[in-house]
Parts: sequence; C-alpha cells; structure tokens
Amino acid sequence: MVTAAPETAPPILAESGPASPMLEWAFFEGRMVPFTEAKISVGTHAVQYGTGAFAGIRGYLDDDGETINIPRLPEHAGRLLNSAKLLRAELPFDRASLAQTVIDLVQRNAPTGDVYVRPFIYKASVQLTPRLKNLKDELAIYMLSLGDYLDTSKGVKAIVSSWVRVPDNAIPGRGKLSGAYVNAAFAKDEAEEKGADEAILLNTSGKVAEGSACNLFLVRDGVLITAPITGDILEGITRRTILQFAADEGIPTETRTIDRSELYLAEEAFFCGTGVQVAAIASIDGRPVADGRPGPITGRLQALYFDTVRGRSDRYRHLITPVRVVR
Ligand code: PMP
Repeated sequence: MVTAAPETAPPILAESGPASPMLEWAFFEGRMVPFTEAKISVGTHAVQYGTGAFAGIRGYLDDDGETINIPRLPEHAGRLLNSAKLLRAELPFDRASLAQTVIDLVQRNAPTGDVYVRPFIYKASVQLTPRLKNLKDELAIYMLSLGDYLDTSKGVKAIVSSWVRVPDNAIPGRGKLSGAYVNAAFAKDEAEEKGADEAILLNTSGKVAEGSACNLFLVRDGVLITAPITGDILEGITRRTILQFAADEGIPTETRTIDRSELYLAEEAFFCGTGVQVAAIASIDGRPVADGRPGPITGRLQALYFDTVRGRSDRYRHLITPVRVVR
C-alpha cells in the first residue's frame, strides 16, 4: 500500500517559494522554465537506473552584493562533460557553452545570497533496458540557496564506513555518476546512525578513499597527504585547489595510498569539496585527531579557501568566474 508522506516531512526540494531553498528558474531541456515545471517521467531511464551525471557548483555572494563568484566554473563544466562521456552521453554542449548556460541561469535567478548550482545530464528516454547507447540525453540545471554542508566552524566527527567505496570497474567514481551515490548514501546514513557527521570510505583494497561527498586530507609529520586519483576517489576540484594552495604556501604534499591506521595517527585531518568547502575533522571512529581541535595547516588552508571563493584574494582571482547580477 502506498501511504501519504508524513506531515512532518521537510518541505525541502518540493517547490520553489519562500519556504524552499530552491530558486525560481531552472534550465530544462533547452529552455529556462520555472523550477516547478522542470519535471520528468517516473519511467525516465536515469530515474530507474541512475544513468545520470551531475555537477555541484557553488556561487558566493561577493562583498559588493551584486556579484556571484563561482569558483572553478570551467573545471566543473569539464568534469561534468567527462562524467557524461563515461555515460556515452551525446549533447550539443562543450565546456564553454555549458559554463555559459550556468552563468545565464545565475543571472536569471539573480540570487541575494550564496547558492549551489546543480547541472544534471541524464538519460531522458523512457526505456526499459539498462544500457548507455541509443538513448536520448538531456541537460537540466537548477539552483538552491545553500550555507554550510558540514560545519566549518569546528571539527566534525567521522567514522570509517563498513560500506566500501564503489570501485572503478563497477561504477567509476572519478566521475559524478548519479547511480554511484547510492553508495554514498549508504555510508552517510551509517555515519549519522552512529552519531557522526560524515563517513570515510575505504576502497576495495582496504585503503582510504574519501568521504561520502568529499575528498580527504591528512597531515602527518607536517606533510599534507591525500589519496591518488587512481584510488577510487572522485577527481575532486577542491582537492586540486588545496594541492595548489599547499604548493604555493610551501607545505609539502604527498599524493599516495593511505592506510586506515594512518587516520588514527594523523596530526590533522580535513574533508574538502565544493559543498563541504574545508571542514576540519575532530575525531575518527571516536579517536580524537590530535587534541580534537582544527590544526594549523587546516586553519591556514581553510582561510585561504574562503578568501578565494568569496573573491577576496587577488592572488587566486583567476580561479573565480564573477557573474554580475541585476535585480
Ligand atoms: N568526492 C565525492 C564523492 C563528492 O561527491 C564530491 C563533491 N563533488 C567530492 C569528492 C569533492 O569534489 P569537488 O571538490 O569537485 O566538489
């Protein structure tokens, strides 16, 4: 029997309007439409089989109140097209036109605060067989208001998940493929059930991969360490930004396989991602990371990150696409 949703169900993602974080306009199958009209059939291939690819792009309101600063827009567009390529999607968009469509939508919505933009390329056919070829591909983009995804003001609690990160030869995790996020959802739920904020997934070799929706860095003996992109992780754009910051700041880095036990010995640890931003980790499996407070390298990189994405850093202004909005 199908039952009605409980009345206490959060209103999030239902409609656009004052109670919802969704912004009014969406891009849907070639046109700007009200978000509430950007709808697909329940029989859509991507809904049934997870045959979609998405991006998660932030926009930060500049201090001038009139500009939305989008960090690394060309890289997000490029990764989305790579994810779509894994799905053999065929669309009339290249990196530049995809990025421009995001800019057009931001201008159309003219946000008054920080936003998150979610482009989605998906197998749009209503078709029964799970396959990739000979299906219609479409692009939709919607936007919502978004503050912190994980608390960035203090350290978060993490656990090592009993769910293994989906391996490259099952569902390639280097792309943002919708179906792979069932794996992320299992891990996130487990973390929350255990009173933690975020999960750390190991890969099928038992080595540290990443969080459910973020990459991971450790500091050991003053060296900043992160897993390699061949370690069943998403090819994170923030991860690359952090590695660049570290190089510029003279912080030594290593991109290498990480053992689980190193999580328990780290002097510092943090998650990073477009949504997550830079979030210090206070404990892993109930073991405090050092004294449980964000460490100095994490603090430095976090400050640089927020300066950059908010458009306050001259040095890293080239990482930002500023979008003027007229209200
Ligand atoms: N890993 C996973 C599984 C993610 O979903 C994300 C969020 N996109 C990240 C890492 C971080 O990637 P990025 O810095 O490109 O947002």
